[in-house]
Amino acid sequence: PSQVTNLSAMKPSTVLYKDASVPVEIRIDDLLSRMTTHEKVMQLNQYTLGNNNNENNVGEVAGELPAELGSVIYYNDNPDLRNAYQRRCMEESRLGIPCIFGYDMIHGFRTIYPISLGQACSWNVPLVERMTSYAAAEGRMSGIDWTFSPMIDVARDPRWGRVSEGYGEDPYANAAFCAATVRGYQGKSLADSTTIAACLKHYVAYGASEAGRDYVYTEVSPQTLWDTYLPPYKAGVDAGALTLMSSFNDISGIPGSANYYTLTEILKNRWKHKGFVVSDWGSIEQLVNQGNAADKKEAGLRAFNSGLEMDMMSHAYDKYLEDLIDEGKVDSVLLDESVRRVLRVKMLLGLFEKPYTGNHPDRFMRPDALSAARQLAAESMVLLKNDSIGILPLNGVGRIAVIGPVAKSSASLQGSWNGRGVYDETVTLYQGILDRFAPEAEIRFAKGSDLDKTTEVELAQAVDTACWADVVILCLGEERRWSGENASRSTIALPEAQLQLAEKIAATGKPVVMLLSSGRPLDLSQMEPLANAIIEVWQPGTAGGAAAADILSGDVNPSGKLAMTFPRSTGQIPIYYNRRGSARRHQGFYQDIPSTPLYPFGHGLSYTTFAYGEPSVSSSTFRKGEKVTVTVPVTNTGSRAGAEAVLWFISDPAASITRPIMELKHFEKRELKPGETTTFKFVIDPVKHLSFPDADGNIILEPGDFKIIVGPHTVNLVME
Ligand code: BGC
Repeated sequence: PSQVTNLSAMKPSTVLYKDASVPVEIRIDDLLSRMTTHEKVMQLNQYTLGNNNNENNVGEVAGELPAELGSVIYYNDNPDLRNAYQRRCMEESRLGIPCIFGYDMIHGFRTIYPISLGQACSWNVPLVERMTSYAAAEGRMSGIDWTFSPMIDVARDPRWGRVSEGYGEDPYANAAFCAATVRGYQGKSLADSTTIAACLKHYVAYGASEAGRDYVYTEVSPQTLWDTYLPPYKAGVDAGALTLMSSFNDISGIPGSANYYTLTEILKNRWKHKGFVVSDWGSIEQLVNQGNAADKKEAGLRAFNSGLEMDMMSHAYDKYLEDLIDEGKVDSVLLDESVRRVLRVKMLLGLFEKPYTGNHPDRFMRPDALSAARQLAAESMVLLKNDSIGILPLNGVGRIAVIGPVAKSSASLQGSWNGRGVYDETVTLYQGILDRFAPEAEIRFAKGSDLDKTTEVELAQAVDTACWADVVILCLGEERRWSGENASRSTIALPEAQLQLAEKIAATGKPVVMLLSSGRPLDLSQMEPLANAIIEVWQPGTAGGAAAADILSGDVNPSGKLAMTFPRSTGQIPIYYNRRGSARRHQGFYQDIPSTPLYPFGHGLSYTTFAYGEPSVSSSTFRKGEKVTVTVPVTNTGSRAGAEAVLWFISDPAASITRPIMELKHFEKRELKPGETTTFKFVIDPVKHLSFPDADGNIILEPGDFKIIVGPHTVNLVME
């Protein structure tokens, strides 16, 4: 009796799940004990709210969605809409469980940063972390709790449009940027009004899509799964990422959304992930198309029992999970465990205490976000070529012709998944050049061609403009929707119309600087001889034009280096630096082209020069448990300040399971003044840097000789 008295005296905090001072797991126990099966199942569903014509869409307005729903994809930036629907969940559902609002913020929300592939070329991890935190703030203050980012699918086939969304071809680079973005999004406290839950996607091996076609089968051996595709996910889980998204592709015949091995055995049992996994859009019902389930009900069963907690837009869980429980095919213990994971994330985000979004009218395009956007855009740009006429940086030029279909296109610069980016807020390449070089220089524009067609009249105008000028800045590239999701291309060369334009301009004999905006590495074999200098600007975002002008003028010395190889031709794909050795060295390449790519991984020029000195190693032999430090002095031997990203590779030439010929294991970027020498350091921990996984992820560390490779041109040498 005394206990009863005590409990009632504690009211209303006896509703444990509402009491933030109670430990999260106890709150969840309490909440689960109050929930009906239906309420539990509804927590595992995500619907859209907003303008979207998908057949599974259920509502355009908040009142049309069920009050017990777990999550919404929120194609909006209006906190009022979120709050209206959240009020429905909080006030019209029996238990008042908040909804979690997710959205694709891939490279920014309103302030748009370079695409992730561009970000990787900056090799500037702290800057990417900072940028991500600004993006998180814009999103959270607009009503978004959870971003479907980072995408960390290692990708080696640039025909696949989604290479733009990830961090390139290297597992370690993807892992490093993954951890940085998770830290940036999730910050120190998730309950903050400026942080957001991250989602690692697409788990796993989606980047191996066969021949670069989206949504298709992936051919991945268990060894490659562990070597190449899983490490970035492990890094993200270790960094505390709250959620993951399962992928469309199948892995050895078992789709990512019904794969017990990846979803439960690896993620939950071995990696101890405590958050939840959401399916990709419709990926549960698509198990039927993939031949893994007879109908949507069976698809739901397979997905759920393999460890996939939340159904994004298949309506498999809301329709069938309750029946499957009644039929004894789904265990109620697993149901509770899955709901617990979703509730845990909501509690960690503080949604029970702060379900609504406040009013932050000045949340967009803040000065710190804009300056990070400009710096990151400039650092992501890669100077691919700068021939001996030394046209770059532009200096004292009187007449500049800006030519090409991308010059005035803000859409191209924003890239796909541009969040709530506004085209009018984007600095185009033309505008950036105008702002930086006029009125000292006279600037004229001619379009010359559309992205994929041109006319004699347009070409003639462009040639006239080029003849008038001292230098031509030729702005070519891709439309934003040529890369991104469902945007595979059978060739990665630019269309004939742009080649024709480049040929005409080159024939004028004027110096040509090419600015290329694309969401993927391009086949430049025909374009490359037509330009004196080439800068890959990627899809650089809101500040793209200003950043390009920073590089053209030399106000910023280019420091970007490729995170993905540029092949000589589409037929050379896949070509990537970290391949395994071939049985006959220096043989087996194509007869009609050189064995090397056009621009290798790590390629990127500067307006200054860097000399690498002799590396030294603290000890040439060592045992497990001991660390070894390798250093290399790098000198800026030119007359301008510049930043150098030093990439460190390890090679294990003889192992029981063959290793890639070299693997990136560490990188660091630093500024060097003219004449300055800085020592770069790599502390090797054998277990971390010299081990490798077997085909089931067991870590193997073998005695033997290892090579440590550092230097500006190493990647090219090894490709030969
Ligand atoms: C994409 C995901 C995205 C989701 C929600 C899917 O089609 O593959 O990357 O997060 O849609 O928009």
